[in-house]
Amino acid sequence: EQVDLNKVVSRSVDMFQGVAETRSVTLSFDAKASAIVAGSRQHLRQVVNNLIDNAVKYSRPGGKIQVTTSAVPGEQKVRLTVQDTGIGIATEDVPRVFDRFFRSDRSRSRNESVQGTGLGLSICQSVISAHGGTILCHSELNVGTTIEIILPTWSEALRESGIVPMVPGHAS
Ligand code: ATP
Ligand code: MG
Repeated sequence: EQVDLNKVVSRSVDMFQGVAETRSVTLSFDAKASAIVAGSRQHLRQVVNNLIDNAVKYSRPGGKIQVTTSAVPGEQKVRLTVQDTGIGIATEDVPRVFDRFFRSDRSRSRNESVQGTGLGLSICQSVISAHGGTILCHSELNVGTTIEIILPTWSEALRESGIVPMVPGHAS
């Protein structure tokens, strides 16, 4: 299935705009490049929703969330970043955020309105890996968090699967 990641993100950003406003958090989206990928729209939607949900949940009033899609220079890949200015993650916890059921002490002890199972990022990682992509977490405690996803473009995914041969000089 051909999925326009920009449409998926745009819809998700619209969906979370209300809750972001309630928490006095700014949520914006900058589509810097076309972002057509191959895969499951439903699963990619779930990934984007999980990331924006986290960014909103772990932000403080006055925080900013910036979602961006861009091209990876020289590669047939799309980059999606969800950057927040929230509570951040301790350096020693960053490598564990994709583990099933992992929740930082701070998240567990935060007010009861911030609930979660600790499965969101683990599901994101499985979905992105099934799409031939990678997901990384950059974070600094009390500064903020950026989740970065790299996915092959639609044409790259087709080429990798052997469906479309590379045609020299053909802009794909
Ligand atoms: P669920 O997604 O199942 O509702 P969750 O949000 O706690 O629960 P994950 O999305 O897997 O679980 O995230 C795991 C943990 O990583 C969180 O509990 C939190 O400690 C930390 N975390 C994830 N995203 C952020 C973020 N944007 N800022 C700060 N901490 C984060
Ligand atoms: Mg989550």
